[in-house]
Amino acid sequence: MFEITILASSSSGNSALLRSESATILVDAGLSARQLTERLSQCSVSPSEIGAILITHEHSDHVKGLPQWCKQHGTPVYCNRHTATLLREKMSTHHAWNIFETGSSFSLNAVSVQTFSIPHDAVDPVGFVVREKDYSFGFATDLGYATRLVIDSLQGLDGLLLEANYDEELLQQDSKRPWAVKQRIASRHGHLSNNAAAELLRQLLHEKLQHVALGHLSADCNREALALEAINRVLDATSPLQRWCAGPNQISRTIRLG
Ligand SMILES: [Zn+2]
Ligand SMILES: [Zn+2]
Repeated sequence: MFEITILASSSSGNSALLRSESATILVDAGLSARQLTERLSQCSVSPSEIGAILITHEHSDHVKGLPQWCKQHGTPVYCNRHTATLLREKMSTHHAWNIFETGSSFSLNAVSVQTFSIPHDAVDPVGFVVREKDYSFGFATDLGYATRLVIDSLQGLDGLLLEANYDEELLQQDSKRPWAVKQRIASRHGHLSNNAAAELLRQLLHEKLQHVALGHLSADCNREALALEAINRVLDATSPLQRWCAGPNQISRTIRLG
């Protein structure tokens, strides 16, 4: 068994569940503890089964529920030192911290976790590749652009959660966001546009890649159809690659690799 379910993915909350033969893990905890519990129960997973929570970075859409969750369940948290320093301010009673060096890999039972640095306006943001046996899945959201390291780290995977944050035109037209915010989103430390996601995917295509979930779509500056259109432009018409968007309001379909 090697299964990924995205519990939520958007600019307002992110969390994903990985279930393998040896471990049950959350990647990020950007929903309230109550919402996390509810969405996990839809996957027939109880809070006590979660053996670890991996944290990509400290933005609230990735850690909103973490203090309350850890208060209730004491789940071990895995993050780098700079991220931990910030999280500890709100989690002084939590003691199960497992600090990794950005760029290192570590094991959770039989699951190996490779961490890699991503360019984003957080203190030390990372992406993850998780592997067990022959199965592998990558988490790549919240990145301003695809660095060489990102492209190299995501080669050869079976599946991928890939950020497709905004459509360039919709972002430009958006009247709610001041110019400085638009600049931040589109900057090299902001988020991936649909076209940038498609270009990254083009560089990751290989025979074994079966699933791409597009995530972290902006509610105002993107549409699922636009994100999928951009991706389809880099795929052959006959490509068997499963691609779809993960959203904010409900758990995604489950990606079953093994
Ligand atoms: Zn972020
Ligand atoms: Zn985010």
